[in-house]
Amino acid sequence: MQQTIRKVVIVGGGTAGWMSAALLKKVLGPVVDIQLIESDQIATVGVGEATIPPIQHVNTVLGLNEAEFLRETKASIKLAIRFENWHREGESYFHTFGAAGQSSAFCQFHHYWRRASSWPETKSLWDYDLNYLAACAGKFSKLKTQDARLEMPYAYHFDASLYGQYLRKISEGLGVKRREGLVEDVELCQNTGGVSCLHLVGGEKVGADLFIDCSGFRALLLQKAMGVGFEDWSHWLPCDTAVSVPSERFANTLPYTRSIARDAGWQWRIPLQHRNGNGLVYCSRFVSDDEATASLMNNLGSKALDEPRINRFRTGRARRQWHKNVVGIGLASGFLEPLESTSIHLIQSAVVRLLKYFPHQGVHKGVVARYNRESQVEYEQVRDFLILHYTLNDKQGSDFWRQMQTLTLPETLQNKLNVFNEQGLLLRDDHDLFAESSWLQVLLGQGQLPRDYHPLVARMSDAQLQDMLAQTARLKAEPIAQMLSHDDFLARFTQVKT
Ligand code: FAD
Repeated sequence: MQQTIRKVVIVGGGTAGWMSAALLKKVLGPVVDIQLIESDQIATVGVGEATIPPIQHVNTVLGLNEAEFLRETKASIKLAIRFENWHREGESYFHTFGAAGQSSAFCQFHHYWRRASSWPETKSLWDYDLNYLAACAGKFSKLKTQDARLEMPYAYHFDASLYGQYLRKISEGLGVKRREGLVEDVELCQNTGGVSCLHLVGGEKVGADLFIDCSGFRALLLQKAMGVGFEDWSHWLPCDTAVSVPSERFANTLPYTRSIARDAGWQWRIPLQHRNGNGLVYCSRFVSDDEATASLMNNLGSKALDEPRINRFRTGRARRQWHKNVVGIGLASGFLEPLESTSIHLIQSAVVRLLKYFPHQGVHKGVVARYNRESQVEYEQVRDFLILHYTLNDKQGSDFWRQMQTLTLPETLQNKLNVFNEQGLLLRDDHDLFAESSWLQVLLGQGQLPRDYHPLVARMSDAQLQDMLAQTARLKAEPIAQMLSHDDFLARFTQVKT
């Protein structure tokens, strides 16, 4: 019998540390003691402001009130990302969290749309998607309907530092103990090779049964002490730096993120209640820090509220995200650029996985292998989705974008692309974070139009198909008139007493 896991120590108090602390304590309660060690001397990354819809499960598990959450984190609603200049200069498309039309068990809506796409009366695929219509109208309301076709999935933009403080307050309320301290050394157990204790500056030693490494890019336990190795994906995703700065808010708060392709990377604009979050992700081989900073500062559209900050990163993942008695979560376990706002989700998903396989009576190799396999697949799926955005560009006059056109793709991705182009089928993997509609929007937005459509569609007459598309467009457009503007929604909803 191995040692029962009672004491858990989390190193790091960024989003990863506090989200892990809150969820583990909320679910496991008195079964574990949780201590979180963080140092005021080492700042958190401090960016990370756009999310995807599963974040709502975190709020549900923690029992959070949505109005309070929006108030505390100065959040806004996110219905989509608008990709500008990604395929060609001057063109844009949306990746919404919704879906166009409605799909049947055998045949997805886009096959119907594809057959009719060259007819003059047929709208763009996005005109059949409620998220898109609301995003373009700058509107949002919670629709009270049982009709699944009118679902409008959404996520949030929030202030990363306020979100961290909010999670901390919740965690401490649940009984997580915070310890201010700088970890200067990690002692390994000679017998097991696992971590036996942490040495803090000042001489104190802190032991635990299980350690969670949330120390950010430093990866103090998983990489520095245990050396699990890093799988580098920068040959596929070569951006390695981001410069970020907050700026004054605009008069209207958009309910979507803007992602604007630039010479050697892309710029984000994230609208919050009190300010905009901005950043430029770039590849330092093609543009200098000064040039990138100047490009960002010249394209804010409002007054900067701080000095720009630079973050370096390496794209890839820890070869083992769980090793012995250490689980790496957050930036300590890997990084994929924030193009599809996946990092906070990967934290959430890692904690959920850890809870599922929690090593109550000690760490078992088989469980660890399973955890690592699932984490690997998840990271690879997100990686492929990100590469897709870059590689299908048709941009001229930029060495960076030309290089992205000629990538040798991972086999998994190349296969998906081939099948889509030939047959219009989306070979989405089980458990892929991104739904078929997500893959579809990026494929179409980046200029891919499948040659064929599903044979079921051929059974319809032209008139039947036209009628079906017109009805769908009407159904999706109808709710827009009743919706509030996004700002009115935020103002009213955040006043709800809790
Ligand atoms: P950090 O925030 O770096 O926290 C590390 C913690 O470890 C700190 O508390 C530090 O004090 C502590 N620590 C380190 N060393 C020691 C030590 N020796 N002793 C004690 N404590 C120590 N994610 C999204 O989901 N959406 C986004 O839009 C998004 N945008 C991003 C933009 C950029 C440019 C970057 C770089 C990341 C972005 N992310 C985004 C990712 C997101 O910011 C991170 O996933 C998230 O903040 C988690 O960070 P972390 O907690 O792992 O690390």
